[in-house]
Amino acid sequence: MRTGTAFNVPIFFLDQLGTVESLPLWYPASSCPILTDFPNRQRAADQLESVRFIDESCQAHGLVMPMVTESQQTFLLEITSPHPWTTGAQQVVEGCFKVFHHFLNLLNYGERDTLTGLLNRKSFDEAFFKMSQQDPNASDGTAEEGERRHPSAACWMAVIDIDHFKRVNDTFGHLIGDEVLLLVARILQATFRQEDRIYRFGGEEFVVLLRAPDAMWATAAFERLRETVAAYRFPQVEHVTVSVGFSMIRHHDTPSGAFDRADQAVYQAKSQGRNRICSFEMLGLSSRSAHAPDQNTVELF
Ligand code: GH3
Ligand code: MG
Ligand code: MG
Repeated sequence: MRTGTAFNVPIFFLDQLGTVESLPLWYPASSCPILTDFPNRQRAADQLESVRFIDESCQAHGLVMPMVTESQQTFLLEITSPHPWTTGAQQVVEGCFKVFHHFLNLLNYGERDTLTGLLNRKSFDEAFFKMSQQDPNASDGTAEEGERRHPSAACWMAVIDIDHFKRVNDTFGHLIGDEVLLLVARILQATFRQEDRIYRFGGEEFVVLLRAPDAMWATAAFERLRETVAAYRFPQVEHVTVSVGFSMIRHHDTPSGAFDRADQAVYQAKSQGRNRICSFEMLGLSSRSAHAPDQNTVELF
């Protein structure tokens, strides 16, 4: 969740045992409530402190508690009670929330790349399978449920590789190289949406999973990334470019199959001069596994 603006935030309702009924992997921002519509939640998120309130409509006493993870995501937990919150009860609940916070950070730590804070490969397969097997247009219930779903059906996977990164290291040293990696990661985070997934797959290679309604939309998103990196002035190094290869994720695709297609497209972008984006589908390439199984130089999965 990003705060301070009229940002849409996902809300998950817990039952009385504290279980989330179903936690979707993708929660399109357009279907989420806007944070500014809830002044108490907004205040808790902005001031990073618990806020007590009375919900006049149902005579309930609310408590909203904020939590900022190490990856700088803000979560809010809101509890309502028919009874007013005493200081003691609030302290107990806040204590439990703090333990949960540490636990979440521990889990989060294992799934994040230590240099950039982006996701590492650990959670990639799970995200990929959920994405490739889930049909976002398939309504499983009411008309309202169908309307709330994201209209975009297609999922895309991109491999983003920094051009001539070895030269950066050789010319400016490893520390400056690390700074470039960090800044490219920041640009990736700023370019893509909250619900997109951004991974550092190691070295100077990143992977993005996103939903987009069609190839034009996906192309525009990756082109925007390429342009932003190319226009950015990196300290000392000045200019850095990226090559992007992407492919549409197919129903019941495999992570290695999709990676292989996006990787082939990156290879084409490199051989066409770098600092460009290439789509596997637009290049009319065929899946490498059927033709040249030994060409994949990246060990995956
Ligand atoms: P290309 O345009 O073909 O992608 O060329 P490249 O130089 O970017 O690719 P190459 O695979 O030859 O070199 C990648 C370099 O990335 C080599 C390695 O030293 C560097 N590298 C990998 N991981 C890190 C890291 O964590 N920090 C730094 N500073 N460098 C890294
Ligand atoms: Mg590389
Ligand atoms: Mg490279």
